Amino acid sequence: MDYRALYENKDFGIIKFDEKLKNYTNFGIGGSADVLVEVKEEYQLVDLLKFNMENGIESTILGNGTNILVTDKGIRGCVIIISKNYDRISLDGNLLKVSAGSLLSKASKFSFKNSLTGMEEVSGIPGSVGGAVAMNAGAYGVEMKDIIKSVRLISKDGEILEYDNKDMDFSYRHSRVFDDDLIVSEAIFELKKDNQEKIYEKFDDFTNRRVSKQPLDKKSAGSTFKRPLGSYASKLIDECGLRGYKRGDCQVSEKHCGFLINNGHASCEEMINFIEEVSSIVFEKTGFKLEREVKIIGER
Ligand SMILES: Cc1cc2nc3c(=O)[nH]c(=O)nc-3n(C[C@H](O)[C@H](O)[C@H](O)COP(=O)(O)OP(=O)(O)OC[C@H]3O[C@@H](n4cnc5c(N)ncnc54)[C@H](O)[C@@H]3O)c2cc1C
Repeated sequence: MDYRALYENKDFGIIKFDEKLKNYTNFGIGGSADVLVEVKEEYQLVDLLKFNMENGIESTILGNGTNILVTDKGIRGCVIIISKNYDRISLDGNLLKVSAGSLLSKASKFSFKNSLTGMEEVSGIPGSVGGAVAMNAGAYGVEMKDIIKSVRLISKDGEILEYDNKDMDFSYRHSRVFDDDLIVSEAIFELKKDNQEKIYEKFDDFTNRRVSKQPLDKKSAGSTFKRPLGSYASKLIDECGLRGYKRGDCQVSEKHCGFLINNGHASCEEMINFIEEVSSIVFEKTGFKLEREVKIIGER
């Protein structure tokens, strides 16, 4: 397909062709996208989804790329980036309205500045608000499901939907977004007024805990595995003697065994094999089955 001719002069945002996706993922891994569009406005997103649907082109959504592993062959069709360009924040009393591309850290800082509490625990999660809502991301006992009031979504054929928290079917690192193939456009957080100093103290505490325990300077997708019922992935991996375990550029982090990291030029295939090796060693030695939290996308 002649993508360049097809997308020429279209008002969808920033359009690129054969773009390397490793530059859009925190793992630093992945082949190219046929077309990549960084949308800025909701109307562009709606028009682009409809355009792709009409032309039989698959749309794949990426946020800040902190929970994905893109395959070495890359992604066919159109990758839509909903990240820092799709970034509006406003306040109505204690309701914080945030566009999906806004980083969770930025939305959190905005809430603290306005003396609103509720986001301190999740402020260090490095994803976009859209990615966080889709994944029902959470930290230190707070998940998106605890602070979201409602979500504005778009279906793949461009229909706009408004769902309350209860309609989102939030569960551990999952939401209706994946079941119904929806796109998060905006989220409203319901927060509470509190003393600003107290909020900053909490924020500092959670930031320090994260910085001291996680390899934030390494290429990773955070915790590679979901928390298994009755234990912790990092604890099990450590107990199996895998702290620092390496294969080529793939490694179990020395700092946090739940993080599998790319030390340089690991391919997706190598990382997938490494993830499978670590989980099968854990299963043989402990009986716990580790389920992947990181999403693998692209042509295999
Ligand atoms: C150092 C580090 C620490 C982390 N700590 C945590 C943590 O404490 N808790 C936690 O839960 N996670 C954590 N993560 C994982 C990750 O940050 C979260 O899952 C985050 O919510 C992913 O957001 P993202 O924008 O990066 O999504 P991406 O990685 O870009 O995408 C993840 C999935 O969400 C979908 N998606 C993204 N945006 C949208 C949208 N607008 N609409 C619909 N679907 C969308 C994508 O299609 C993909 O399937 C960590 C990751 C790293 C690298």
